[in-house]
Amino acid sequence: MSDPRFLGPAEAGIECAGDPPTRRRLLKAGFGCVVALDLTLARGAAAAVAAVRVWPAKEYTRVTLELAQPLEHSHFTIENPHRVVVDLQGIAVDASLRELVAKVIPSDPYIQQIRVGQFDPQTMRLVFDLKQRVKPQVFTLAPVAHYRHRLVIDLYPTVPPDPLDLLIAQTEATAVTRGRATEPAQAPGASAEPSGRGGGQVLPRRAPVSRMVTIAIDPGHGGEDPGAIGPRGTLEKDVVLAVAARVQKKLAREPETRVYLTRDGDYFVPLATRVSKARAVKADLFVSIHADAFVMPRAQGSSVYVLSDSGASSVEARWLASKENNADLVGGVNLRTRNRETAQLLMELMTTSQIRDSRKFAASVLSELGDIGRLHKPGVEQAGFAVLKAPDVPSILVETAFISNPEEEMKLRSARYQDALADAIVRGIRAYFRDNPPGPRGRTL
Ligand SMILES: [Zn+2]
Repeated sequence: MSDPRFLGPAEAGIECAGDPPTRRRLLKAGFGCVVALDLTLARGAAAAVAAVRVWPAKEYTRVTLELAQPLEHSHFTIENPHRVVVDLQGIAVDASLRELVAKVIPSDPYIQQIRVGQFDPQTMRLVFDLKQRVKPQVFTLAPVAHYRHRLVIDLYPTVPPDPLDLLIAQTEATAVTRGRATEPAQAPGASAEPSGRGGGQVLPRRAPVSRMVTIAIDPGHGGEDPGAIGPRGTLEKDVVLAVAARVQKKLAREPETRVYLTRDGDYFVPLATRVSKARAVKADLFVSIHADAFVMPRAQGSSVYVLSDSGASSVEARWLASKENNADLVGGVNLRTRNRETAQLLMELMTTSQIRDSRKFAASVLSELGDIGRLHKPGVEQAGFAVLKAPDVPSILVETAFISNPEEEMKLRSARYQDALADAIVRGIRAYFRDNPPGPRGRTL
């Protein structure tokens, strides 16, 4: 073994990448390695890790360490094989960090394994053995919501996936779905269509369109950001992803319609990225899906919001927009990246026609939601939601129901209600296009 840095984990006496000549011997532990010696040197003032989380996704994999106090950190990359090394000061290897080693799943697109070791009495070293080269972003987040201090390690591909390529892939996949739509058997994992209103109903045909339309569906929150949490522990991020997947499945059966999901798994997508993704695929419409929450458990009903160019339509709407806009703080955005993306967005002005079209679209969806359940307010509401700021895409935010209301939380968990919500959104989209046929702006891929 000419270079001890390249030792594999299966070898006894494994050593951590980049260790100096006086490196310590490590003991094998599961898929990774853990320093077994000299820990006494690091005990005492060492900070404890409160929790570790891994969020693998095609787009990027995030690893989060949550701690009682902030940490000094540094990182570097090594090639052949690809690795990222993160050094943390004043922290000892403990049970939580060993847990991190075991939390890497085989299907993680980026991480092969994580090794943890005490590099010197003051430095704990994390070595990420990678499946491909990455662009790491390592940053800290101050305590927010129920989180304490966080160290975030985001591993991005060196070439970011093009949303248009993803859209084409999704379209090809949904073309297969369309072919299967008439078969009686369901695909594995697909839920059965409920009978009753919505599922088995023959929906009104929309007017023929002259070109392919693209609908961006945006399930709110994800990953580190659970969104609102119901009294039974239901997470907004889970129910909105389920509803979005149903909308996607239903729209995919439509001819001349492509659907793009801004997130298709349990990982966080910053608000500005959601907007830029929708613009990148030249979406004709943007629908952000959420579940509402309020301190009074009796608050109930669906709402549909559009961006306001002149203040919020109610105190409640303003409060809700600031809560939803907090997603970036809870989900965790690298401030340098966020500032760049937000600045770019602010340079583009909203057009009057975008807001007018958004209002018409919102009214269509609100009307359909009113047919399947209660409405929170009779009309479309407005507030400064960051996710509705695509200057050229009619955009709405649907608060499906109040997850803080025990009764509505139960409905949100049920396949039948999720399906009814998805049907209402799809009908709203059709009704909007029937009255406002898409113009020539879009282009065929
Ligand atoms: Zn939300």
